[in-house]
Amino acid sequence: MEVTKMKKEIYIGAGYYPDHWPRERWPKDIELMKEAGIKILRLAELSWSFLEPREGEFDFSWLDDFIELAHAADIQILLCTPIEASPVWLRHKHPEVVRHDKVDRIHGERGMHCHNSRAFIFYVNRIVTKMAEHYASNPAVIGWQIDNELRNVDCYCSDCREAFQKWLEDRYGTLEGLNQAWGTCFWSQVYNSWEEVTPPSADQLTISVSQILDFTRFGSDSTVNHLNRQVDIIKSFAPHHEVTHNMLGWYPNLNAYDLSKKLDFIGWDSYPNVDGDNHIECFLHDHYRGAKHKAHWVLEQKNGYFNYSDYNLAIEPGLVRLWTYQDIARGANGVLFYRWRSNKYSGEQNPNGLLRHDGTPRRPYYEVKQLTEELSRFEKELVDTTVEAPVALIYSYDQMWAFEAHKQYKSFDHREHLLTYYRALTKLGLTADLVDPTTDLSKYKLVIAPSMTMVSNEIYENFNRYVENGGCLIIGARSGMKTWSNTTHELPWPGLLAEMAGTVVDEFEVLPDEYANAITYKGKEYPVKVWLDMLDNQTAETLAVYTQKFYAGRTAISKNSHGAGLVYYVGVMGNSELALDFLADVAEELKLTVTNVPKEVYLTRRVNEQDCFTFYMNVNREPVNVAVEEGLDVITEKVVSGEIVINGLDVLIVKSRRRN
Ligand SMILES: [Zn+2]
Repeated sequence: MEVTKMKKEIYIGAGYYPDHWPRERWPKDIELMKEAGIKILRLAELSWSFLEPREGEFDFSWLDDFIELAHAADIQILLCTPIEASPVWLRHKHPEVVRHDKVDRIHGERGMHCHNSRAFIFYVNRIVTKMAEHYASNPAVIGWQIDNELRNVDCYCSDCREAFQKWLEDRYGTLEGLNQAWGTCFWSQVYNSWEEVTPPSADQLTISVSQILDFTRFGSDSTVNHLNRQVDIIKSFAPHHEVTHNMLGWYPNLNAYDLSKKLDFIGWDSYPNVDGDNHIECFLHDHYRGAKHKAHWVLEQKNGYFNYSDYNLAIEPGLVRLWTYQDIARGANGVLFYRWRSNKYSGEQNPNGLLRHDGTPRRPYYEVKQLTEELSRFEKELVDTTVEAPVALIYSYDQMWAFEAHKQYKSFDHREHLLTYYRALTKLGLTADLVDPTTDLSKYKLVIAPSMTMVSNEIYENFNRYVENGGCLIIGARSGMKTWSNTTHELPWPGLLAEMAGTVVDEFEVLPDEYANAITYKGKEYPVKVWLDMLDNQTAETLAVYTQKFYAGRTAISKNSHGAGLVYYVGVMGNSELALDFLADVAEELKLTVTNVPKEVYLTRRVNEQDCFTFYMNVNREPVNVAVEEGLDVITEKVVSGEIVINGLDVLIVKSRRRN
């Protein structure tokens, strides 16, 4: 069998739909792709009804013909399993493949399939098997995108109900274990048989927050199983093919750590708002890269107008190139644009392609052409580098789901709280990996885990080992309050983390949006809001105290030595200036390399053993000055040093010797 492997290059590509365009057009498109430096195409993503037009009748000939043309032009192929858009005949024959919501209505939105439906599993497995068998030895195909933008669909059908009961039995072993974990003594909800346990349905009088959390976990696991079944089939025919999935950016209900375990690399779809907060794009890159601790891909990079939005800002010159460099700066080794040519049909008719509807190349196309020419000067060196990230920011799906089930207060937003720290790190030029709390933390100089409300024994042991061995951990308000089942600990807060923090929460208050208290930290006063803990230090020292109300003078921030390491407890929220000043002090104490960058300039470093590529992304519309150490500007291929001007919406990439 001829085996084609991925090249050691940065893959720039696009999503293409040969099933949407006449065959006579294909050669022209391929010619334009070659001119723009396109190396890879994502095909067949939503094409099930062209590949299996009628039940059991498979037709791959049109796809074979297109792939042959692409291969002749040395363009490689990432095939998709076409599952997200199931064919009309399947939904008529088996309506149960579509999810049932809480009141048993059937939903028809794209991708809203039941991942536990026996019929769905049968038809998915069959077409994936047929495709894997057919394309295993195709010389153009290097890998697969499994499904598309998977979601945890909250299905309440009978197959899901049974699967949920089985999932709970596997998790808790006995009904007594379940009743105990969920605290069903509350409001008399004790279960006597597994059949009595249901998803949190509309006709249930009392739904517990533990039940909601477990149903979200179950839905995420069901979706992961749906993906893994497809991965296993493909790998059984084509073990040499790489498999990936395009995560739906900001979507919180599918656990990316679990989902990416069987993938060779993880991908995600990046659709920045022209006027949005760029930190969110960076945050997601740092998460998906951190999820597998290796280079990720952007499988859909927005390069045109939005199709789903209330307004549509024009994409300014330079933005498509800048977004792509940002993907690469944060560790992506592949960027595929969505999409090659603007779509003509149904709900996505805005110009969203590198080519317009009329088939002519437009501004984004020429930016991509410029970018691939620039990349060709240094991509072979860059592809083997990794992003330098001295900090871990803990991003836990279980915590997000626990807060979603039991947020308690509307002013508290878990991800906004994480972003307060994240924005401060960015301002200091410090890159973080966003990782699971059970990941090996030993390589990080600083770990920030704000609001880990549920702490399992495994997480406690991981954090404790990290700190005892000399690590520095920041925790904060709402930490360690709950068991892994979303019920409250009998231990004083922060529960299992109290000993390492050397402090306990005596009282707290939660403020409405319009109120604030204040603290003094290092002689400066900062307003604080949302959730405020009043701490009783055991072995910790006080770093900040409240200035108002009956708890003026009580500890708000503490610091404790534990083993060879340090634990900070930040019992307040809601002040970005405090986050910046506090993290700057911690970074100085830890001797981290801080680079104060101008506002809306994003700095990252990709390194190998000898060299360092420093990326300065200027997301401002105006030029900025940055101070750089001597090195090679890899785009202009000139030596630079000292004060350098970076134009608005432009990037500077400096290659220098790596500092240890
Ligand atoms: Zn279902």
